[in-house]
Amino acid sequence: MEHRAEARVDVSAIAANIALLKNKAGVELLAVVKADAYGHGLIEVGLAAERAGADWLGVALLEEAIALRTHGVRIPILAWLVSPGSDFKSAVTHDIDIAVSSIAVFNELATLKAKPRIHIELDTGMTRGGFLDEWQEFLTLDFSQVEIVGVFSHFARADEPGEKQNSDQLMCFKKMVEDLAAIGVNPPIKHLSNSAATLMNHDAAFDLVRTGIAMYGLSPDVNTLGSSNDLGLKPAMQVRAKLHLVKSVPAGALVGYGATAGTHRDTKLGVVAMGYADGIPRNSQGAGVAFDGVKAPIIGRVSMDQFVVDLGADSTAQSGDWVIVFGDGSHGEYTADDWARASGSINYEITTRIGPRVPRIYAPHVY
Ligand SMILES: *Cc1c(COP(=O)(O)O)cnc(C)c1O
Repeated sequence: MEHRAEARVDVSAIAANIALLKNKAGVELLAVVKADAYGHGLIEVGLAAERAGADWLGVALLEEAIALRTHGVRIPILAWLVSPGSDFKSAVTHDIDIAVSSIAVFNELATLKAKPRIHIELDTGMTRGGFLDEWQEFLTLDFSQVEIVGVFSHFARADEPGEKQNSDQLMCFKKMVEDLAAIGVNPPIKHLSNSAATLMNHDAAFDLVRTGIAMYGLSPDVNTLGSSNDLGLKPAMQVRAKLHLVKSVPAGALVGYGATAGTHRDTKLGVVAMGYADGIPRNSQGAGVAFDGVKAPIIGRVSMDQFVVDLGADSTAQSGDWVIVFGDGSHGEYTADDWARASGSINYEITTRIGPRVPRIYAPHVY
């Protein structure tokens, strides 16, 4: 069956990005594949990352970790969004490392029969996950029933390398690691860096870096760190869709719900077979598609399953032709960064929200 829309994921781009990031970091690399690998496909990307030399995989949820294991991933896997009451027995059975950021979770792990592998998560200033108020009490606990593999934290502003909060968090991390050393606990793997820190802040590399967005070939922040191209990264996802319909329209036609836009000249409009149900942001004025290397901007509001683009009066596009929604920008198409800017969001959200109705195709991009 021919698709009406597809997300083509080039795993060789992911492999190239992993090689670049490993080289940059000079330490082990954990490939972050949470949230269906930022929309690129959990299992395929997890296995591809392992083949490409990633040393670890990281996910938010325990069920993501177990899915990776049952599909044959052999490298260590860390799950870091694990609440009290989780199925810790399965975590141990599947050899999943668990992040611990509360005494409640620690106590559940310490009462298992088998010795679970844990990474102690520290709140060094982001004020999200990690130990903060329970830290001193945590230091008094009995750690003999767990294997402490790692200690880690997360940056709030690594994409703004000049911000003082980065050095504050780094100092706080070192101080809390010393607290552990003072009671004789020396976790072998200390880790703090996300993609932005891996690219910008070598002092924070420690023993392992956790890279998500850059591994998918996207910049953590185009304004502060530069584009994918500037960073030498290759965007892995290309989304394309079919023109459900091409029609000639006179000047003065009102387009879409709310009649928020209209044609200013006789032109050809294309109806693209994707909508906000597929993760196309409803307000995306300034983004669009490309046909044959020529940009066709969105006109009017995005609907649930479709949106309209202005192809221009001279376009040769016809009903049924493919257009590129976003890609690496090398053939005149919009990028995930263009869509992010147009919709007031970030590239992370653009790829992650491409919905389950859009099949992922593991193949080179097409033009
Ligand atoms: C998502 C996440 C990462 C990856 O962040 P990127 O900016 O995509 O590199 C790293 N560590 C943790 C704890 C995360 O939640």
